[in-house]
Parts: sequence; structure tokens; C-alpha cells
Amino acid sequence: MRIFDPHIHMTSRTTDDYEAMHAAGVRAVVEPSFWLGQPRTCPASFFDYFDALLGWEPFRAAQYGIAHHCTLALNPKEANDPRCTPVLDALPRYLVKDGVVAVGEIGYDSMTPAEDAALAAQLQLAADHGLPALVHTPHRDKLAGLHRTLDCVHESSLPMDRVLLDHLNETTVKDAKDSGCWLGFSVYPDTKMDEDRMVGILRAYGTEKVLVNSAADWGKSDPLKTREVADAMLAAGFGEDDVDQVLWRNPVAFYGLSGRLRLDVPEANGLHEGNSVLRGGE
Ligand SMILES: [Zn+2]
Repeated sequence: MRIFDPHIHMTSRTTDDYEAMHAAGVRAVVEPSFWLGQPRTCPASFFDYFDALLGWEPFRAAQYGIAHHCTLALNPKEANDPRCTPVLDALPRYLVKDGVVAVGEIGYDSMTPAEDAALAAQLQLAADHGLPALVHTPHRDKLAGLHRTLDCVHESSLPMDRVLLDHLNETTVKDAKDSGCWLGFSVYPDTKMDEDRMVGILRAYGTEKVLVNSAADWGKSDPLKTREVADAMLAAGFGEDDVDQVLWRNPVAFYGLSGRLRLDVPEANGLHEGNSVLRGGE
């Protein structure tokens, strides 16, 4: 079984996670830039983070046989902080880099005017750079958040079929599917979607344009949830081809819209800017 986790924050995870993911079948990941859990105080703090997502983290993933790409953006929460919004002006020089396969994650957190402006600006950046967009839908007030998101996409010059709407659930899936966007589902322990609910959604809405991710980060989350969904699909009577479509071919097709997806894992030996994953240069 081959698995592509299209939304996971590996910066927050350990090498044990990489090992376990590879053993479970994960061969490719996309890491969206996001909120680090505490506010950043200046754009330079974002730039160091973006550089890590483009350099160190793909290097680290390669040690474990996993291809790593990223999506870059000013995240919805920090779009409200005037100390951070100058990041928008610097994004064009990052969006041309080979490892960037979408603009993201963008979207709404609290649905403020500042978030409106950042979302519109970044949808335009995606259109200008020939990139698709990964759009986070809000965790509170989900249906209203989805509709406001879709309005913003409609007003942009980015076509619906280059947008992945993420963190969907039973409340939002129908309208999201009707919009023509790609459909992303984050499967977490305890909260939000679980693997059985995910199987129910796949039964009701089919496998076309559906992506499943673990969205694992620094919070309570599980980087093996993609595999658990695959196993739950098989147990529920879906075929191996259905599993391959949802867990591999759909994310490959969506991020492939960037023209930059490289699924061969780079040579694992060597150094990244003089540093290895080994301590003390062993
Ligand atoms: Zn995320």
C-alpha cells in the first residue's frame, strides 16, 4: 500500500514518527506552513520557518524514504497580526521555489476583515504563480465559514478546480462537493473526523477528488491516521483501487497541478548545509 499524506506538520514530529509512517506505507507528504502555537513577532521568523520547510525538513524526510514538499502562506490566524502581514509582500520570492506545490494553508480562522484581505491576496498569488491553493475551513461556525470561503474563491481569478478545501466534515461536504473544489478531510484522534465517519462520507459521496490527511502537528494528533483510514476502507468493502485513489492518486493529481511534484526520494546520505541528522557528526 502506498500512502501520500497531503497535510502534515512534520516540523512538530519526531524521527520515530517518520519511521512509523514509512513502515505504514507513507511515501510522500506535503507540509503546509501554519501557526506554531505561539505568535511570531516579525516576518524574519516566518522566513526561517519557510527555509526549514524547503531545506531541512525534506532532507530529514529523505532519511526515512519519504518525499517531502510544502505549501507556503501567511496562515489565517496570524493574518490578523500587523507585525506579520508584511510576509505577504515577501511570498512571491518563496512561491517560485521548486519544493512549493501550493499556496497554503490560507482561509479563515475568526472570519475577520484582515483575514478576508489575506485570503484574497493569497488566492491571487496562487493564480499568478500557476499554483493550486490549500484552503483551511474554520473549525468553528463551519458552514458559514465554508460559504464565506467559497465566495472569496469565486471572486478570485483562481478556478475552483485548483482549490483544495480542507478540514471538511458531514456538515460541509455537500456544499464543498457542489462547488467543484477538491475535498480534504483531516482525521484526528478523539475530535473532528474519525476513520469510521470518513468511511461513511466516502460511501455517501464517492472517492473522486477526496483527499484524507492526518493534519498531525504539535497538538493531539496521529501521523498514522491515513493508514487507519485505508484499513477502515478495506474492512468496509472498498477495493484496493479505491484506497489507492484516495490515499495516493488524488493527492498526486491535486499537488501535481503545480507541475513541481517529485515523488522520487532524494539520496538519503550526505549533509544539509553542513549538518546531518546525527549528533556530533558521527
Ligand atoms: Zn494544518
